[in-house]
Amino acid sequence: MTTASERDLVLYERDGKIATITLNRPEVRNAQNGKLLYALDAAFEQFASDDDAAVAIVAGAGPHFSSGHDLGPTGDRDVTFDRRSLWWDHVGKAGAENRFARECELYVGLCRRWRDLPKPTIAAVQGACIMGGLMVAWSCDLIIASDDAFFADAAVDFGIPGVEIFAHPWELGPRQAKEFLFTSQRLGAADAHRLGMVNHVVPREQLMTEARELAGRIAQRPRLGLALAKQAVNQCEDLMGKRSGTDSVFGLHQLAHAHNAEVMGDMNGGGSPDVVRRALAEQPKA
Ligand code: ZN
Repeated sequence: MTTASERDLVLYERDGKIATITLNRPEVRNAQNGKLLYALDAAFEQFASDDDAAVAIVAGAGPHFSSGHDLGPTGDRDVTFDRRSLWWDHVGKAGAENRFARECELYVGLCRRWRDLPKPTIAAVQGACIMGGLMVAWSCDLIIASDDAFFADAAVDFGIPGVEIFAHPWELGPRQAKEFLFTSQRLGAADAHRLGMVNHVVPREQLMTEARELAGRIAQRPRLGLALAKQAVNQCEDLMGKRSGTDSVFGLHQLAHAHNAEVMGDMNGGGSPDVVRRALAEQPKA
């Protein structure tokens, strides 16, 4: 059961046909712990079951969209939650079983649930959208970014081939995906737009206005038509290998965690918070 204070980690508001779902941990750049991810899932569920809500905007409170998974002391990785899949509880399980059960449920399972939601979703991204932040933004149908937004996946610095949902080749194209991963370099909003990962780039102060304007135009269209159009594109992406590709690479991701745990005694190789801090501090690509 989600408590009221946990629920406040993600806000749900509706204005007419447009729902706004806001990640609300700005004091830690909307870092995602289990509590926040389940609160986000509850907000998506509220949106899905609200007949008056046609389109959702997914936003982040404060200067950054999301700095990714919470790898610090508030990361609640040993906490039991009500699960959304039929995977058993990872708590108390040893080794790879612990990591695999947790990440199947919390990361791959939830992100796929959100991507499959039959109503349109728009990520409104400002500032940092790093690692787990990418997974939330990529789960949405459209991405509108402010001109100060940047994207990065520093997982290779942990010895890991990328975040749990390996959508990089579909989002960026294979060569750009390799450079993105090999260098951990920030991808600025303009470059992300040029590569097709982002629909529109707008001035920071107009981000939510522009997102609402786009949502408003979509919200006027027939609900079933939108649901079928969404499913049509998602099915084609999956026929182009997205689902089987991400399943396949998830195995490499787990291999990397297992290697780190075996060799360094830590699934992320020990340097997690520093890696994220570095990704936040690096300058945008020229
Ligand atoms: Zn992982």
